Amino acid sequence: MAPNSTVVEEPVPQKESVKPEYKPKIVWFNVMLFVYLHASFFYGVYLGLTSASWKTALFAYIYGNLGGLGVTAGSHRLWSHRSYKAKWPLRFLLCCFASIAAQNDIYEWCRDHRVHHKFTETDADPHNIKRGFFFAHMGWLMCKKHPDVAKKGKTVFLEDLWADPIVRFHRRFYIPMSVFFCFVLPTMIPVWCWGETLWNAFFIAGMARYCFSLNITWLVNSAAHKYGDQPYDKYIEARENAFVAFFGHGEGWHNYHHVFPWDYSTSELGYTLNLTKVFIDFMALIGQAYDLKSAHPEMVKNRKLKTGDGTRMKQVDEHEQQLSCAQS
Ligand SMILES: [Zn+2]
Ligand SMILES: [Zn+2]
Repeated sequence: MAPNSTVVEEPVPQKESVKPEYKPKIVWFNVMLFVYLHASFFYGVYLGLTSASWKTALFAYIYGNLGGLGVTAGSHRLWSHRSYKAKWPLRFLLCCFASIAAQNDIYEWCRDHRVHHKFTETDADPHNIKRGFFFAHMGWLMCKKHPDVAKKGKTVFLEDLWADPIVRFHRRFYIPMSVFFCFVLPTMIPVWCWGETLWNAFFIAGMARYCFSLNITWLVNSAAHKYGDQPYDKYIEARENAFVAFFGHGEGWHNYHHVFPWDYSTSELGYTLNLTKVFIDFMALIGQAYDLKSAHPEMVKNRKLKTGDGTRMKQVDEHEQQLSCAQS
């Protein structure tokens, strides 16, 4: 080599750090289960309209609402978010109601939900709305979880749940409790009490009621993350959805809930489309629920002014009027 000659090194090709595209793996057993469940729903509705007693349909509706409260007042607002405290008789009642809904045991339900709140709209969100309406609704239960869900899920605090003997009891006896409360009891009550046929009772108060209540819960993850206003934070996908709030006992006020997840009423609208708040307040009245947490109106107002989309400002005006009245 000649002196003073310059050597130009060939650039070393760098390894690309682009993440390989994630391909979800479908769990066909669950797909078949959901096909059967929805076929049973339509068959149950057909039987309800053609051959069953109206009492069976009414019972299915009321029983379904009890299961709904098990999820909303129990698994969600009490155990997932600790938005109030409950004495053991109420916790045990909510554990039975949660078995009517049969949406996994309380511990597992809360783990998924806490992961959803901590990692909303990322790959670690079990029902990430960014992967589409159907995925957020029920598709997530029909495929293997994204690896980030398990990996980042480990960082979520769950010890408080395990410390509750009723949560441990539910995890241990989830299968027999769900079989009894979700299928056996709602089938036998219409048969014993007003002579309904076993077939009608099973498909109406068992299967159809179960499928309907599952879809209402799923709508919180799909519709209430896609359709509605964002009065408190326009930078997140969670929305205020009155339709979901009506059927979901208040859970459709979801933009508020994601901003103030520790508020037991999940909204600033009082009892409007919020049966769960009515239930918790009643339980507080009879001494079963206590330490109910709420966001201060001033805090809600400030958040709306800072990050809201400009909707639901009536409450801000009312709050300011009240303040000026108090000062004058
Ligand atoms: Zn959500
Ligand atoms: Zn929540």
